[in-house]
Amino acid sequence: MNRQALDDLKQQIPLMGYLQAHDWHPARPLSRGRWIGLCPLHEDHQPSFLVNTNKDLFYCYGCGRGGDVIRFAELYHQVKFPQAVALLHQWRGVEPSLLLEAARFYRIQLHRHSEAVAYLYQRGIRSSATIELMRIGYAPGGCLRRWLIQLGYPMPALCQAGLVTGNGYDTYVRRIVFPLEGNLYGRSLSASAPAHRFLPGSKGGLYSWDQVRQYPEVILVEGLFDYAALWQAGFHNVTCSLGTNLNARQLRQLCDGSRTVYLTFDADQNGSGRQAAQSLACRLTEHGVSTRTVSLPEGHDPNSFFAHGGDAHQFQSLLEEAR
Ligand SMILES: [Zn+2]
Repeated sequence: MNRQALDDLKQQIPLMGYLQAHDWHPARPLSRGRWIGLCPLHEDHQPSFLVNTNKDLFYCYGCGRGGDVIRFAELYHQVKFPQAVALLHQWRGVEPSLLLEAARFYRIQLHRHSEAVAYLYQRGIRSSATIELMRIGYAPGGCLRRWLIQLGYPMPALCQAGLVTGNGYDTYVRRIVFPLEGNLYGRSLSASAPAHRFLPGSKGGLYSWDQVRQYPEVILVEGLFDYAALWQAGFHNVTCSLGTNLNARQLRQLCDGSRTVYLTFDADQNGSGRQAAQSLACRLTEHGVSTRTVSLPEGHDPNSFFAHGGDAHQFQSLLEEAR
């Protein structure tokens, strides 16, 4: 295994997540990103096992051992390096390359299916730069499985990843597909199927966060079509939480520096978007992040705002009026 593949593996398995999955819990934080607890590698009565989540490294003051997640797996499972790597691969589950291949297949399909392009057009996604940037694809249904098998992926791996059902059918049928970090989001074209779907597992962190985190002002939207519409209109300080319920990782990301967050959730008629924005604003304020709530015209989300003729200038005014 080459260096790059090892680095990828380590990146996909944060040490803290692996430790917690093996029943290790920190006794207390020491400083930002540093935790201490009982050592799982020797009989420990006073917390002497230090974990640095920024560097993804551990060190035990009791038994003097330390290293990265692979070293931990070696010591914990008492195996040699290659077996530890194999165990971690197995533990990680879905091969990221499998998701990448599926996403690549879906991208090829997009321009072969006029209904998919028409749907994007109708939702106001008309710039090929945005489609490229977001690597948007289309799942027609019924041919992904054959493609992946031909590439040598075994059937159980496809089922485990959730790309194919237990009966051998493609999971995503007639869906616009957006690749996420470690997942694929599928938006249904047909009204008879659930609109939003993810593969099993986490929806991941905030969309495209690494490109956004350096902005002092960040626009947060709930859907990827909203993201696409804003990006297309020239707002590049936008990120997406894929729903109004942020997971712990997404919250941490928003709170990892000082910034103002413009909450731009849907202006649903029942007020649910506004309520979600309010409760999120409270949580962010508790963490010292300043927030503004953007009021869209009733019944609109950022996507429909632009699709119905709103322009960047008008949206800018909404940002300035946000409270
Ligand atoms: Zn120890």
